[in-house]
Amino acid sequence: MKSLLKGILLLFILFLVSSFIEKQEWGFFAHKKINRLAVYTLPPEMMYFFKPNIEFFTEHGPDPDKRKYVDPHEAVRHYIDIDYWGEYPFPHLPRTWLGAMIKYIEISAVYEDTKMTLFSPKINEYDGDTIFGNNIRSSFERYSSFVKDTIADNILEGKMEFSIDTFAKWLDVNLSLFEGAQIVVEENFSKEGISPYFLYQYYYALVHAFEKKNAKSIIRRANDIGHYIADASVPLHTTKNYNGQLTGQKGIHAFWENRIPELLADEEFDFFVGKASYVENIRDFFWDIILKSHSNKDQVLAAEMKIRKSFPEDKKFVFAERNGVITRLQSEEYTRAFNKELNGMVEMRMRDAIKALGDIWYTAWVDAGQPELKDITEINWTKKEIEEMKKINNADKNGTFHGRDHWD
Ligand SMILES: [Zn+2]
Repeated sequence: MKSLLKGILLLFILFLVSSFIEKQEWGFFAHKKINRLAVYTLPPEMMYFFKPNIEFFTEHGPDPDKRKYVDPHEAVRHYIDIDYWGEYPFPHLPRTWLGAMIKYIEISAVYEDTKMTLFSPKINEYDGDTIFGNNIRSSFERYSSFVKDTIADNILEGKMEFSIDTFAKWLDVNLSLFEGAQIVVEENFSKEGISPYFLYQYYYALVHAFEKKNAKSIIRRANDIGHYIADASVPLHTTKNYNGQLTGQKGIHAFWENRIPELLADEEFDFFVGKASYVENIRDFFWDIILKSHSNKDQVLAAEMKIRKSFPEDKKFVFAERNGVITRLQSEEYTRAFNKELNGMVEMRMRDAIKALGDIWYTAWVDAGQPELKDITEINWTKKEIEEMKKINNADKNGTFHGRDHWD
């Protein structure tokens, strides 16, 4: 009887404490590590700039996660639920942002109290050079250039509106049938994540910063792209089952990307990845990261399920204090068991991320014409910029979280 009471009490405490579990990220620990170690892959000409700023790349590695608290557009850049769009290797998912928007935007005629869908991925049919919607057809070429010139670069900010006349001109069709309506263009694509599309676009922002030799832009963009590459290297950042919530494995996300690296990376992982190399095809390179991550996803879930079932219940968790908060963590033995079952995957993906980041930094610099970086090594942040950075740094304590309630 006594032990039963004790058991109930323990369960109750467990329940209380687990509700205080703090949000951790790939982990802040792994982001810092990946950004930092990528610096050592660079050639001497780049080292002039990157080495003196290595502490910046370390400290600010987690920044993009913190921005989710201040920027509603941030969260979707960190993942892609690619299995939402079909089966591996997802041949029907356009690899360009423009292609994705042409295929997935939704266009409606909106009257005062009704909305009629004209084009949407569920409705659209294609025949030769014609796209057929609902009671409307257009030349596919006109449709595509409408999306290219007006929609693709702006739609992430929110839905867009056009008058019937403007829209009719774009498509070169007669829309008198829809008189009195307003044309509304929306996308429901980005909420499943835009990681590889964003990486591709952001890469060119980094190239541009090198071209301009703008030290502050280089350091910020080089830093942030490190974060996005690291996230793309995590299998659970590429699936709708991102926290095991669809298979009864909640908590697996942080178990893989936080707990294992925090416990084992410093002492036991080997991060020697050699020198950065030039990337010939940037778009394929980012997509390959995503596809590789995704191809590891089933193994992650299977490994966790196996130890979840076989490991003694009372040896799975421990309580530890972190930043003044008592946190329930996977025990060392349990974490080691998971890592063993994963057969070195976390170490491998961290190494891949370090190498990929070094490659991308190097390639961006080469594509920018190998600018001399010696003379821009020292960066003097203005008071205002320092304030801004502090604000981001504390955003997770003060801001409102925009995005998913899991941590990435
Ligand atoms: Zn992230």
